[in-house]
Amino acid sequence: MRLIPSPPGRISTGEVLFEGKNLLKLSAKEMQNIRGKDIAMVFQEPMTSLNPVFPVGDQIAEVLFTHEKISSHRAMQRVLEMMKLVGIPAPAERYFQYPHQLSGGMRQRILIAMGLICNPKLLIADEPTTALDVTVQAQILELFRNLQQHFDMGLLMITHNLGIIAEVADEVAVMYAAKIVEHGTIDNIFARPLHPYTFALLKSIPKLNTSKSSLVTIPGNVPNPLDYPVGCHFCTRCPYAVEVCFVQPPPMTNATDGHSVACWCWENIELDENHLTVK
Ligand code: SF4
Repeated sequence: MRLIPSPPGRISTGEVLFEGKNLLKLSAKEMQNIRGKDIAMVFQEPMTSLNPVFPVGDQIAEVLFTHEKISSHRAMQRVLEMMKLVGIPAPAERYFQYPHQLSGGMRQRILIAMGLICNPKLLIADEPTTALDVTVQAQILELFRNLQQHFDMGLLMITHNLGIIAEVADEVAVMYAAKIVEHGTIDNIFARPLHPYTFALLKSIPKLNTSKSSLVTIPGNVPNPLDYPVGCHFCTRCPYAVEVCFVQPPPMTNATDGHSVACWCWENIELDENHLTVK
């Protein structure tokens, strides 16, 4: 979305394709027309993403005024309809309230309404439930599922929580230290993870019948982004690393139809209930 000011931010290589257009080549004005309209974003922390000194209804309406020629009266109607759609009770009253007067769940609904008000083709949700308690999390996920179908839009969910992935995603890209290490359908990833990092992530989720000692932990620390290992970024923490892992980055390989992995050893690693073993 090119939200990071450049300089100091810099995208040194690659493309960001949206409907065939490379977003990195668009002018600031063209990008502004897409941002918030065709591609919208819901951020992680609703309290810091909303402006504390404006009523929440006005903050949603601002998106409309930026992208559409619309009267104040019609904009207010649209905002109230959207607030109702995202499950905000008594929207006419809430419209004039300030962020601090709403609960965390309500604030997140306001941000979702803000993201959806221009009917985007793609909604990017960055850890949208992290700041919420589990009951509200479940409600917000349900809301995302319903709205995605209602608006027939793409939903790109960024999260560290594999439970959320299982709930909302069709397709998953697992990232480690700035690289996609595994990509597949939700069934591929959960039934047969191929990358040691994905496997460790799945095995580190506590279950009701899991004793503490059987949880998998990943030794070591995430490498410094200014000093990534030359080869596989996971090599300093991977118990299966071989020589080549330290000197050459593994290419993305098609393992099965629609399931790919970036690991030199994926064919030699076998997964059982709790452990990875090398053949
Ligand atoms: S490429 Fe090597 S270090 Fe990287 S995940 Fe595979 S086995 Fe581990």
